[in-house]
Amino acid sequence: MGEIRCELSWSPSRAKTFESCRRQYFYQYYGSWRGWEAKAAESARQLYRLKQMKSLDVFAGIVVHDLIAAWFGARKSGRETAPEAVLAQAKQRFDQAWRESRGEGWKRDPKRVARFVEHHYGESVAPARAGAIWAKVERSLRAFFTLDQLEPVRRSDPKSWLAVEALDTFEIARTKVYAVPDFAFRSEERVWILDWKTGNPREADERQLKCYALYARSRWKTSAADLRLTLVYLPQGELREVAVDERELAQVEGDIAHGIELLSGTHFDPDREPAELARFPPNGAPRACRYCVFREACEAAPREAASGGGDEDPTAE
Ligand code: SF4
Repeated sequence: MGEIRCELSWSPSRAKTFESCRRQYFYQYYGSWRGWEAKAAESARQLYRLKQMKSLDVFAGIVVHDLIAAWFGARKSGRETAPEAVLAQAKQRFDQAWRESRGEGWKRDPKRVARFVEHHYGESVAPARAGAIWAKVERSLRAFFTLDQLEPVRRSDPKSWLAVEALDTFEIARTKVYAVPDFAFRSEERVWILDWKTGNPREADERQLKCYALYARSRWKTSAADLRLTLVYLPQGELREVAVDERELAQVEGDIAHGIELLSGTHFDPDREPAELARFPPNGAPRACRYCVFREACEAAPREAASGGGDEDPTAE
């Protein structure tokens, strides 16, 4: 296997971080580079540790996505996991992460041992808030198993499945674009792509799904007319269909190409070139800082940002 390189790529979350705060973008994609290596500079190791942290909201989303993917995985192997067993696994994972986050293990193995942003920044997590986050996980998983509109999804033939939470890439403007469709399968002559959501509906959700439509075109040769795109807001128990046509897809592709051009303006190879921090000014708005995992390393983190909050993390899936 060749040496890994810090390549330029595009994903909805990378573009969002670039827009939100350039310094945060630097920490996430360049400053933390090689921070997983024992011989790396302490600054890179610190940023890498911080980068692995998750807010409770983000963690809740990861647990829901992972367990739904595992449920599909079991079905593919001929096993049907009962909803109550999935909920028990979710609770176990949540409790274990909570215990880990209160300990020190994450310092040795930040990739595998959980550390919650709220614990790291000394934010008090009222039992009511922790309870509400768990209730959201439970509600989301129950919705997956009980929503009538998802019956064809749950009953779909594994032979029709095209993607289950699979990280893949395609190219726009000769640059890797990341796509992780939560679930895609062939249904009634169309390709149905579903995106599980555990946060509140956001404008960016539709755009993300349209990006997956571009992925589907590249990977499965589908046209806009062949696609059915659905956002599934699990805690709310709501499905939202997203219409798309070729003209819109061309527009989204153009927007991504433009976004790639912007990212390439600051791209550099941290293995070969020194970082020019001035090109990544800390311009996080108070709201972005409030949820930023890099507050500890950022000299511009406003004082009040250290106190977090009880709102939903806007970066939660
Ligand atoms: S703390 Fe605020 S200014 Fe600093 S990197 Fe994070 S978002 Fe940007």
